[in-house]
Amino acid sequence: MTVFPPAKHDALGLEELLTPEEREVRDRVRRFAETEIAPIIADYWERAEFPFPLVPGFQKLGIGGGNLKGYGCQGLSIVGAGMAAIELGRVDGSCSTFFLVHSFLATLTVGLLGSEEQKRELLPDMGNFRKVGCWALTEPSNGSDASALQTTARRVEGGWVLNGRKRWIGNAPWCDIAIIWARNSESGQVNAFIVRKGNPGYSAKKMENKIALRCVQNGDITLTDCFVPDSDRIPGVASFNDTNKVLAISRIMVAWQPVGLALGAYDMCARYLQQRRQFGAPLASFQLMQEKLQRMLANIQAMWLMAYRLSKLYEAGKMTHEQASLVKAWNTLRGREVVALGRELLGGNGILSEFLVAKAFADMEAYYSYEGTYEVNALVAGRGVTGISAIKPPRSGRVQVQA
Ligand SMILES: Cc1cc2nc3c(=O)[nH]c(=O)nc-3n(C[C@H](O)[C@H](O)[C@H](O)COP(=O)(O)OP(=O)(O)OC[C@H]3O[C@@H](n4cnc5c(N)ncnc54)[C@H](O)[C@@H]3O)c2cc1C
Repeated sequence: MTVFPPAKHDALGLEELLTPEEREVRDRVRRFAETEIAPIIADYWERAEFPFPLVPGFQKLGIGGGNLKGYGCQGLSIVGAGMAAIELGRVDGSCSTFFLVHSFLATLTVGLLGSEEQKRELLPDMGNFRKVGCWALTEPSNGSDASALQTTARRVEGGWVLNGRKRWIGNAPWCDIAIIWARNSESGQVNAFIVRKGNPGYSAKKMENKIALRCVQNGDITLTDCFVPDSDRIPGVASFNDTNKVLAISRIMVAWQPVGLALGAYDMCARYLQQRRQFGAPLASFQLMQEKLQRMLANIQAMWLMAYRLSKLYEAGKMTHEQASLVKAWNTLRGREVVALGRELLGGNGILSEFLVAKAFADMEAYYSYEGTYEVNALVAGRGVTGISAIKPPRSGRVQVQA
């Protein structure tokens, strides 16, 4: 059983930037993560199982509705939700992703773009993890190029028929509500639909053999003549531009997530270096060890500040997609360095999952590649600074310069 070390990582007094409410969310989620998640999670990770016994705890935590307000949702500030994402991630990356997918993709889509009836029906339960959602955009042939998705939605009497396949969808094998993104066969535009558990046209098979976020159940979804009534089409989605409204917010949370993993690895290492002795002295007394530990800490402080500033820009209505991509890309890049240093500091124990650093090391790989890979986010940020998009190959061989 892993006893999680105390949080001793606030080298620059960043806590002072938080409001009392944000500190309270942080402390509440930290308590839950340290006492309920930490003792059991390595075992679930090894077995690649979702920790269902933790769901009642999530239901009491008061974070499921993220930044949505009303309909039973808690209306967290973006920074407050970021604190929840990092405190979960500090102990376990999969639990942080469970929160992200459910709250900042599925629930957020209903809250931001759903009808009044959909919000009234679903948000009180989704906002408290009593019903769990997944969010299905990616397809086997469309990952980074998600807006070219091929799943179809055909209009029929009283509703829509969906056909197609989705891949990598977190929570899909067991959740209650699936948000499915599909192309309207008439307009050619991307629309979104609510597919409920038990729909005979929906099946989801768990993806096996992941080396990261092993507790998250990612699914391969097949939609076969899946009927969805008109009342379950999400009316606020007219095109992929609306998908981007959700992604803009969820990307901020994905910028916070690597901070959490990195903090957990740092706290583990800081304790370990004090406790473990070699050559008659604690590892913490060796210069090379100290250099690595402080480099982890410096990276984390910078990552935290980047995510904080991004959150503040969003709350002020000023954040751009390019800024979100800049921070997501950079935080996962630095996050990778932090967990790699942590893995080195623990020597052989750095590759054992029960010390949690190896787990964070593996989980960071998923953060690096989901919600836009490092490369694609870097190119969005690059477009922001140059005005030239390098994401799609130029058709004519000539580079298009944006105005
Ligand atoms: C653990 C995990 C959980 C996920 N959860 C969900 C989920 O819940 N819902 C969902 O819809 N999706 C989910 N995804 C999908 C995720 O968003 C995609 O994996 C991601 O967008 C990348 O797509 P891909 O894996 O198909 O890679 P590809 O798009 O095939 O990319 C492969 C490589 O090519 C590079 N590349 C691609 N295009 C360019 C370009 N223009 N320029 C330079 N390099 C390029 C990429 O950066 C990458 O290195 C999840 C993925 C993972 C790994």
